[in-house]
Amino acid sequence: MPESASYRKVDLHTHSTFSDGRLTPTQLVDLAVEQKVSLFALTDHDTLDGLAEARAQAAAHQLPFLNGVELSTQWKGIPLHMVALNFDPNNAALNALVEKNQGIRLDRARRIADLLVKQGLPDLFDEAVALAGNSQLGRPHFASLMVEKGLVKDANKAFDRYLGNKRLGSLRDVWPELEEVLGVLREQGMALILAHPKRYPLTVTKLKRLLADFTAWGGTGMEIASGNERPDHVRLLERLSQEFGLDASVGSDFHGPFGPWTQVGHFTQIHETSVDLVWRDWV
Ligand code: AMP
Ligand code: MN
Ligand code: MN
Ligand code: MN
Repeated sequence: MPESASYRKVDLHTHSTFSDGRLTPTQLVDLAVEQKVSLFALTDHDTLDGLAEARAQAAAHQLPFLNGVELSTQWKGIPLHMVALNFDPNNAALNALVEKNQGIRLDRARRIADLLVKQGLPDLFDEAVALAGNSQLGRPHFASLMVEKGLVKDANKAFDRYLGNKRLGSLRDVWPELEEVLGVLREQGMALILAHPKRYPLTVTKLKRLLADFTAWGGTGMEIASGNERPDHVRLLERLSQEFGLDASVGSDFHGPFGPWTQVGHFTQIHETSVDLVWRDWV
């Protein structure tokens, strides 16, 4: 990002051990401070449980902190992620959605385990539940077990062969509809941001249809940079955010020092002056 008077190193998309991240909220905030982040959000998958710890640690470092969550939804049968930002963690509507998704996660994990058994793998359900502990159980936990047991070479292979959306068939069709989620949250005064729009199997034409629906249903923003996204994709997303009147958000989507993730506070450079930054009123 260019240095300028308005420059802030923000990171509005990160994960901790309360979902599928490797660092505790405290460790994650410490890393954000080390990386000189000046506005930070924790956005674990379908849980608010890490927010209090992260907020306390951020306060100890005088790091401005926003409550966040990455909600699992779907649109036309495609799983989509939506980041909600800057809310009261006691918001009843949001808590109800989060609890519903947690139930879906457990149910889906049972079905994923069954699907893997059908493909000749051992039943990994109990170990996946144990591995997740008090964090949100997800496919990365299955992937870790498969690697640990030597069933696949690495997590990427686990997704390629067994866990990717294409491999899960009708099992990917489990999340609440985007329209329903936005309907519940649109009057709740929080930012509602489409996460990493270039990571879905959508042509630009279809992505525009999604953005039209997203805007009409009450979405307020979209990520224009997520980790080490291709610069031409960032340019496209900058233009689309302006075309659809959506605020621009950014984040590393950091999960840990492994896999494809970039460092906390790092993402492909954006043109701050050609978009409406979601954090303009928060700093
Ligand atoms: P779930 O929340 O259970 O649907 O799992 C989705 C999570 O899996 C994403 O948030 C990523 O953290 C992780 N993931 C997705 N694809 C891959 C991949 N190819 N390799 C490693 N992790 C992945
Ligand atoms: Mn994840
Ligand atoms: Mn995501
Ligand atoms: Mn994420």
